[in-house]
Amino acid sequence: MASNQGATLRFFINSLKYFLICLTLYGCQASPSSLEEWKTPNDKIKVLSTTPIINDLVRRIGGERIDPLSLMGSSIDPHSYELVKGDDEKFSIAHVVFCNGLGLEHSASLKSLLTQHPHTLALGDTIRQKNPELILQNQGQVDPHIWLDVSIWKQAITPIVSLLSEIDPSGQEHYEMRGLKTEEELTALDSWMQNQFLSIASDKKYLITSHDAFNYFARRYFLEEENASWKERFCAPEGLAPDGQLGFRDLERVITYLEQHHVEVLFPEANVAQDSLKKIIEIAYQKGITAQITTQELLSDTFADEESYEAMMKHNVEVLCKAWRSP
Ligand SMILES: [Zn+2]
Repeated sequence: MASNQGATLRFFINSLKYFLICLTLYGCQASPSSLEEWKTPNDKIKVLSTTPIINDLVRRIGGERIDPLSLMGSSIDPHSYELVKGDDEKFSIAHVVFCNGLGLEHSASLKSLLTQHPHTLALGDTIRQKNPELILQNQGQVDPHIWLDVSIWKQAITPIVSLLSEIDPSGQEHYEMRGLKTEEELTALDSWMQNQFLSIASDKKYLITSHDAFNYFARRYFLEEENASWKERFCAPEGLAPDGQLGFRDLERVITYLEQHHVEVLFPEANVAQDSLKKIIEIAYQKGITAQITTQELLSDTFADEESYEAMMKHNVEVLCKAWRSP
């Protein structure tokens, strides 16, 4: 009887291990079957997007007329993405390629494929050309995290509709209708987010995360008074791309911020190691300051396969509001 129970337990543990391995493998890239399906020619427009966030927006606009695929998997840090085997083929099959631009896709090999494709559109660069004042710079570097401000991200809709209509003219009305619907949905999401933060006490809204991803977010959602500086509302030890290379000055800067604004909780990010935040907590503790890292991670640069951009943004609002509302 006991050995039967032992065997059952071993079977259960092995099954769980297998499930976790599959989840890890398929969480990193499109499953082989869906990739094969995408590569198979049909009457749809093959659209390749560099990140899951762009892919989600393109999918919403393209609907059943397109076959969307994200080059990067959901658990990948988009800043450091290097091409893998098979990526060249995806570019050669794609009729259209959408990328973020603004320096996000910065590996030389990926930049080269993006430049060579005849129909690549960098959404962030297009928004920047039209409204340069919206784009933030940090120490001479352009901040690519525009998707974390919904009011900016929805400006990517029109360029997507235009390019899809150019490639597939008979679908123009379809893309325009879906573009309008998506714009309405994102406008509602943006207002909902602004309202959620209005109910949080002003002295709580000081955000510390691992890397410099939340500048656009802080500017849009934490600013309360017309002339106040939103820059005070966000601080991170690592730069615009998470690299884990921390100088003593970076740590000191965040600890001073933590002390000045009485920050009690630090927020880890799903695609970034927590080492820098742990170091900050440790040094702060030695100085007699108690702070902690929340158990729930923020989603800055990516989201899980089964999720969507909308769910990602709602998740971030809920994690922040829950932590800031607790006494
Ligand atoms: Zn980032």
